[in-house]
Amino acid sequence: MSTQGVREGSLEAPTRHPLAWREESFYDQLSINEELERVFDICHGCRRCVSLCKAFPTLFDLVDESSTMEVDGVDKADYSKVVDECYLCDLCYLTKCPYVPPHEWNVDFPHLMLRAKAANFKANGAPLKNKLMSSTDLVGTLAGIPVVTEVVNAVNKNGLARKGLDKVMGVHPNAKLPEYHSNKGRKRLAKVQDLTLDGP
Ligand code: SF4
Ligand code: SF4
Repeated sequence: MSTQGVREGSLEAPTRHPLAWREESFYDQLSINEELERVFDICHGCRRCVSLCKAFPTLFDLVDESSTMEVDGVDKADYSKVVDECYLCDLCYLTKCPYVPPHEWNVDFPHLMLRAKAANFKANGAPLKNKLMSSTDLVGTLAGIPVVTEVVNAVNKNGLARKGLDKVMGVHPNAKLPEYHSNKGRKRLAKVQDLTLDGP
């Protein structure tokens, strides 16, 4: 069979289509599920991205453990398990996927995850733990109070406490956590600047 003129995948620079986030249909759960099913099916047949992050192994496990061993056997309620594992690094789109536009399959996995996350946020808001985890200024201010700092640092090094943190906040027990300081960099910098301005 002649393969002249046939291209395996996206051998050209990808074209990124803008997200239609201002349109109501962008947040329509039925249409999101349809698109998730379409793209998941392509990914299931390809599996190139299995080593990139936890989103892909989660998807492939769901497929392999389903009754049909195909995407149609996966409960749509479980799609969010895949979406939750994507942290939008864009690696699959930029480095792996041969089916990104202008390929006719038009696979933009990160954009689809972003759309599903946005729809979920619009419908349900964010859980308290996510709000807390992303409020780094607030956490830093509270954990930077003298005495509290020492307690927080000690708790963060305690195996039992880390298991609790994993359960409540979803922070892996082996994840490296920053050490907090009450004498913050900003304070120290201001002191140095004061000394410099005062001069010898
Ligand atoms: S964009 Fe999401 S799905 Fe793609 S590699 Fe990054 S984390 Fe994984
Ligand atoms: S994003 Fe593309 S390369 Fe990655 S598994 Fe899906 S189809 Fe394959």
